[in-house]
Amino acid sequence: MLDNRKRQIRIIADAFREKCKVGRYGIIDLFKECERCGYKLVRYPMGDSADLGFALKKDNDIIVYTNSSSRLSREIFTLAHEIGHVVLHLNDVKSFIDDSMTIADRSDDEREREANYFAACLLMPVDEIDKFIDLELPDFEKNSISAMDIARMMSEFNVSYEMVLNRLESLSLIDSNKRIQLDTERNITRVGNLLRSIGGNAKLNICSEEIYLPYEYIEYVIYNYNHNAVPRETLEKVLSYYKLTFEDVIDRVIEPSEMQVDLDELMGGLED
Ligand SMILES: [Zn+2]
Repeated sequence: MLDNRKRQIRIIADAFREKCKVGRYGIIDLFKECERCGYKLVRYPMGDSADLGFALKKDNDIIVYTNSSSRLSREIFTLAHEIGHVVLHLNDVKSFIDDSMTIADRSDDEREREANYFAACLLMPVDEIDKFIDLELPDFEKNSISAMDIARMMSEFNVSYEMVLNRLESLSLIDSNKRIQLDTERNITRVGNLLRSIGGNAKLNICSEEIYLPYEYIEYVIYNYNHNAVPRETLEKVLSYYKLTFEDVIDRVIEPSEMQVDLDELMGGLED
């Protein structure tokens, strides 16, 4: 990637980040930001061997999907990568589908590398990393960072252990030997334990299995139910994704008997 293009991507990532709610260092909830931007977000646990995510443009809608069977920190990175495709590439191409190969810096598709670079700049901008090091790691010198510090950065930036290492290495804050050492420490001390030991967000290290569908989907299913296109079981199943029951939408659904009455009234009305 040319320096000029990298700079362009940093500007776009920065502009996106400015619209986001940020905690001390990291974006608090990128899923919510996605919705605030008007994208239709879908999260579904498709299993850990399925695709990680996709971004797609359909008519005037932008649909972003992430597989919630991956660890939350990984899912957040996928989401940032998909947002990258949306803001950088969706004008020229209609859709991107990502698996562990496309979301790897080894991908030979330039657009995949660009989406990864966007994700890195969005989730861990240089300024914020510098600020973290300045304020939280007063004795920091190159390579003097511990596995526990990495876990603290994970928790602050809502990213994976691996992503912190990638970012620190690409910014030359650690060298490749230090990276290998930190990687080994991760294997010995499980990341979840590290996160718990610092009172960090241990949820980052497990998959959420979250099911999340755009709100319009409820409308769509109720409409279909009211027009006899789907059975009550389907409606109830979809409602359960939103943690709703049939009773919660009772004023919106038309029971089959009522429909008959409506029809009779309508026919009667026509005859008058
Ligand atoms: Zn991609």
